[in-house]
Amino acid sequence: MKLIGASVIITCDERFTIIKDGGILFDDENIIKIGKFDELKKSELQEVRFYHSCVITPALINSHIHFEFSKNYSTLQYGSFEKWLDSVMQNRDTLMQDSASYIKNAIKETLYSGVGCVGAISSNGFDLELLSKSALKVVLFNEIMGSNKDFFNKIKDNFEARLEKSKSLESSTFKAAIALHSPYSLDIELAQYAIKKAQDSKMPISTHFLESKEELTWLENNDGYFRGFFRDFFKNENAKPCYSKESFLELFKGCQTLFVHCLHLDDNDWNNISKLTADIVSCPRSNRLLNNKYFDLSKANDYNFPFIIATDGKSSNYSLNMLDEARCVLFAYENYDINNLAKEIILAMTKNPAKRLGFNNGVLESSKASDFAIFYIKDIDKTIQIELNFILHAREVQDLYINGKRIDIENN
Ligand SMILES: [Zn+2]
Repeated sequence: MKLIGASVIITCDERFTIIKDGGILFDDENIIKIGKFDELKKSELQEVRFYHSCVITPALINSHIHFEFSKNYSTLQYGSFEKWLDSVMQNRDTLMQDSASYIKNAIKETLYSGVGCVGAISSNGFDLELLSKSALKVVLFNEIMGSNKDFFNKIKDNFEARLEKSKSLESSTFKAAIALHSPYSLDIELAQYAIKKAQDSKMPISTHFLESKEELTWLENNDGYFRGFFRDFFKNENAKPCYSKESFLELFKGCQTLFVHCLHLDDNDWNNISKLTADIVSCPRSNRLLNNKYFDLSKANDYNFPFIIATDGKSSNYSLNMLDEARCVLFAYENYDINNLAKEIILAMTKNPAKRLGFNNGVLESSKASDFAIFYIKDIDKTIQIELNFILHAREVQDLYINGKRIDIENN
């Protein structure tokens, strides 16, 4: 048994318990007990450490990230979804070339921000082995995309090979799953084929949904930007959407789904998603950069969706640092009481996303996984606004524990 303690522990449990001068007693798998450091110190211990002026939180969770796009720095265009997607189409191959070193750095950046667990969207499998060898807990969402019938067999073969490879690498820290790119980019036959695989193996599914008004116009009116998109990039003059919004959502009945973005939902869509076994992931900086819009948090509250935030990839963000994402949220939602919002933001990157990724972490209480992040925050023992000061000042982890082991991030 080991014991760590700190000036403040934010447990993220049901009552959002905060323990001052707290301690966590744990082994390589689970938390055994949590309470006051001085009380727990009386146990038989292998290792004891107290972090002064520090906060311990559950290791953070970034539930939507594309590591393969980590090479983008200032290549892609922001400010308009149309210009962004055009620039992705034009630069995709160059961005994918020799991306391994960028993926490695992105994993390091992720760990340094206190993230111990990710939902990684993998379009080509270039990140697969690097992630399986990393210290991170990973749900690898193998992505399927394509709408040209001539290539269906090729797409299925490629998808199947990636999926099988990721299944063969499964471990206590690495799980295979499935991502459907989006309703505008995926034919219904391929979607049904991938969903069947997810259901057969009880894997969660991730999908982008209604990220842009262009996607909405395409699904509702079969018109707008995507008409030109299919003509210019796929030589298809007669492309038609494969779904209505309703028929797309219908596909996910009986699945465990993470819908990502959802910036353009109407009441009917909110209602339909709320009937599914699903959560919604919001990527605030990505949404601001591409679509000049933030997720409707008050609607999410009305429909009882827990708030979940993620960074998306560097294809639509300037960093993969979850703490930067958290600060963006704090300033974006000006109508919310800042102290309550700070608390909601902490849950949005711990307890709330943990449920769907299934690693038994995200909360610090007995029998949960021993995944902790420790941050130095000057004078944290003196403030009464702990959550707010955590969001404002946490920049980089002091230490990160995954499955009870301290991670050597620099050499990971
Ligand atoms: Zn994404």
